[in-house]
Amino acid sequence: MIDLRSDTVTKPTPAMRAAMANAEVGDDVYGEDVTMRKLEETAAQLFHKEAAIFVTSGTQGNQVAVLTHMKRGEEVIVEADSHVFYYELGAMSSLAGVQVRQVPGVRGQMAPHDVEKAIRKENIHFPRTSLICLENTHNRAGGAVLPLSHMQAIADLAKAHHLPVHLDGARIFNASVAAGVSLGAYGDTVDTLQVCLSKGLAAPVGSLLVGPKAFIEEAKRWRKAFGGGLRQSGVLAAPGLIALTEMVDRLADDHRRAKELANAFANMAGLRVDLSTVMTNIVIIDINELTCTSDAFLQELLTNGVIASDFDDGKIRFVTHLGIEDEDITRTIDIVANVVKQHTVHA
Ligand SMILES: *Cc1c(COP(=O)(O)O)cnc(C)c1O
Repeated sequence: MIDLRSDTVTKPTPAMRAAMANAEVGDDVYGEDVTMRKLEETAAQLFHKEAAIFVTSGTQGNQVAVLTHMKRGEEVIVEADSHVFYYELGAMSSLAGVQVRQVPGVRGQMAPHDVEKAIRKENIHFPRTSLICLENTHNRAGGAVLPLSHMQAIADLAKAHHLPVHLDGARIFNASVAAGVSLGAYGDTVDTLQVCLSKGLAAPVGSLLVGPKAFIEEAKRWRKAFGGGLRQSGVLAAPGLIALTEMVDRLADDHRRAKELANAFANMAGLRVDLSTVMTNIVIIDINELTCTSDAFLQELLTNGVIASDFDDGKIRFVTHLGIEDEDITRTIDIVANVVKQHTVHA
C-alpha cells in the first residue's frame, strides 16, 4: 500500500525507538522529567521564545492557546478555511466560548486590509476582538507557504490594535525548508505558536505550544484541565527531540516528490491542479470533471494500492512523507493515470 493520506502516518525511526527505550524520565506534572525539560527548552530556543510546553496534539495546543489568550464572548479572527475552524470540532466555541470571525484568504493569506476591517471597534453591541490566528503552511490551501512578509504585515497591524497573534504552525517546518526562512524568524513575528512533531517530522505523538513565559505558565493550567498533564512523558519527548534536531532538513525530499506528483497530475486530462499552491508536501487535485464521485475514485485507487483522502467538494489530497520513496511516486502516477482515463469524457 502507498499511503498518501497524511504525513501523520509516519512511524518513529529506529533512532527514535532507541531514544524512547533509553530516555531518562520523571513525573512531568511535578516538572521532574529532564528529557521533557530538554525538549521544551530546545523548542523555545528554536522559535526565539522564552518557554514551551508539550501538548498531546496540535488540536490541544491550538485550543489551549485560544483559552489562554481569550475570554468567553470575545471574537477570534481566522482564515475562513483554517484548521482551527474546519477540523477542530468547533472547540473554540464549545470549549473556549468564543465567537469565530472567518476572513477568506487566497492561498491561505488573509488580505491585511480585510483583517483590519474585521477587527471590532469599541461598541456596546460588539464582541471584543482579542486574537488573530494564522496557519503556515496552510493545510486546505494545499500546503501553501505564507510568506514571512505577509505574516509580518498581519503582525504589524495586530500590534497597532494591541492584539496578539497565534500561529497554527502544525507544518511550520515545511514552510521553513521550502522558503528558506529560519524557525526563529517565524517565531519573531508572532506571540505564540503551535508546532507538530507527529507529522512530517515522524515523532509518534505530540506538539509544542511556544510563547512568553507567563503565557506558557497559564497555558499549563488549561493543558491540565484538558487531561494533558502527563507523567513520565520523557518517552515521548525523546523522539520529539530527534524530530526537532534531525528530521527537518529531509522535508525537502517530500517537497520534491510532491512537485513530481503535482506536475504529472496537472498533465492528465480531466484533473485540475493549482500548481501555485504546491509548495511543500501536499497536493490537492480537483476531480469534478471526471465522470465518477470522489468515493468511487478513492475506492479505485485503494483497489490498486494507493490511499489518498477526501478533501470535500470533489477534491482529493495526497501528502508525501518519510514513508514514501521515489518508486512510490512513479507507481502512484501510473495508477492515478489509469483510474482517470476510465472516467474521462471523450469529445
Ligand atoms: C494536523 C493539524 C493540526 C492538528 O493536529 P492534531 O495533532 O491532528 O490535533 C492543526 N493545524 C493544522 C494546520 C494541521 O494540519
